[in-house]
Amino acid sequence: MYDVIVIGGGPAGYVAAIRASQLGLNTVCIEKYTDDRKNPIFGGTCLNSGCIPSKALLDSSQKFYDASKSYKSHGIGIENIMIDLSVMMDRKNSIVKKLTSGIDSLLKANKVNIISGSGKVLAGSKVQLTTLDNSIEILESKNIIIATGSSPIEIKAANFDDKNIVDSTGALEFDEIPKKLGVIGAGVIGLELGSVWARLGSKVTIIEAMDDFLSMTDRDIARASLKEFQKQGLDIKLGSRVISSQYGKEKIKVIYEDKKNKSEIEFDKLIVAVGRSPNTKNIFSEDSGVELDSNGFIFVDDYCQTNASNVWAIGDVVRGPMLAHKGSEEGIMVAERIASKDTKLNYDLVPSVIYTHPEIAWVGKNESELKAENIDYKIGSFPFAASGRALAADESVGFVKLLSDKNDDGLLGAHVFGASAAEILQQALISMEFDSSAEDLSLIMFSHPTVSEALHEAALSIHDHAIHLVNKRK
Ligand code: FAD
Ligand code: AMP
Repeated sequence: MYDVIVIGGGPAGYVAAIRASQLGLNTVCIEKYTDDRKNPIFGGTCLNSGCIPSKALLDSSQKFYDASKSYKSHGIGIENIMIDLSVMMDRKNSIVKKLTSGIDSLLKANKVNIISGSGKVLAGSKVQLTTLDNSIEILESKNIIIATGSSPIEIKAANFDDKNIVDSTGALEFDEIPKKLGVIGAGVIGLELGSVWARLGSKVTIIEAMDDFLSMTDRDIARASLKEFQKQGLDIKLGSRVISSQYGKEKIKVIYEDKKNKSEIEFDKLIVAVGRSPNTKNIFSEDSGVELDSNGFIFVDDYCQTNASNVWAIGDVVRGPMLAHKGSEEGIMVAERIASKDTKLNYDLVPSVIYTHPEIAWVGKNESELKAENIDYKIGSFPFAASGRALAADESVGFVKLLSDKNDDGLLGAHVFGASAAEILQQALISMEFDSSAEDLSLIMFSHPTVSEALHEAALSIHDHAIHLVNKRK
């Protein structure tokens, strides 16, 4: 009898398993993804085909783009610049390997028991384990944590063929740079992967069904970033829905429609990035007592507890944004709650980042949300064009925007569009987590010259006394 069985070894599951074991609980982590020798590979989507490989390619492609486009203004010229895609891919794969084997070592060092195979939750705190040679074993545990993650959504208008019409995993593994690349969906994944290949030379067209660009982000950032991405060569067709795609004669013919017309366009490769769905099929028996919510996610309360006693679910299989850090923090919370601690998560402050260049990052409320909730707010903002460090780094596009409560000055939202947006945002988030006001943030000393000074100036500008900006009296 185990104390905890974790099904799935992604960033939600492996973190839960490590924390549970740290707390003295006899823990096992079951993972079905294996190497040639049938050893489990941990890290889930994030390490194997998501966050990490996409960032490796985003960083490599940005280096190529900078070397070919922006070094000239620094007085640096490079002749015969070339791309060896196989080296770029090998680099990405070796980073993935290093990190996934690192997780394996961490699990072992923390005395987590590791099993290869597929787990299924049965009634009465039991788990059916199907091993790789298809034998079945029943394991018993006081607690079960489901962390089986999510998979790319496939649409009838563009069925995957794993070579030419691909999901995000396939898009990280092209063996040549497509001349013409289509992307369905201008969400986070579509924009990041579209950016990788555009920087390497593909002519990229992103087809998005919604009229609004990045509807979940601050409207000023959505407008500014759309303009910037178009300047970078991304052809973003909004209000355009793909209705069919067909591969033939080495090209993919895609038909899409907007409000007025049906149009046809040809691509060498097509990435389908229309979202992900939770892996909730075949992971519990009907009598397990585990219920799904109306969107197919496992139904959980604020503490990630399901309807079934002692069964918990974390990460992409439950409500909330599909983000690695959100899943990991849920893993820690659940492990600690099983160990009788009163750990809670602040779901109001889950940060989001889009790793384009410049990056887009936000946390807390945006203006539309505050208006909908009838909350009076003040705005402070500061452009990177007025930051000495950003100018020196040739990264002057974008701005920081802060929203604070008109009544008590408490920070309500932070929105950053800029080269180091993710890192700057984290500083605003820490302040917000400590219930800081805009004034508190403006009283903190920031190193000079740093791009983070833009955050300081944005906080000052809420009270109309930014120093390096002509303040508008409101
Ligand atoms: P997963 O990572 O999907 O892990 C689930 C694991 O469970 C898998 O290893 C799977 O093999 C295993 N499993 C499934 N069923 C069973 C079973 N029955 N038995 C045993 N094992 C099973 N998020 C970010 O925060 N930042 C980013 O920059 C970012 N970039 C991304 C880029 C891309 C291209 C993609 C696709 C995703 C990205 N994400 C990013 C999202 C992030 O990868 C997910 O939110 C995160 O991996 C979810 O973690 P998880 O542990 O819930 O699930
Ligand atoms: P995300 O959920 O952030 O990954 O974004 C996926 C995007 O794909 C959403 O903005 C959807 O509107 C878009 N989308 C879904 N189906 C289609 C389609 N058939 N054609 C174009 N865009 C689509």
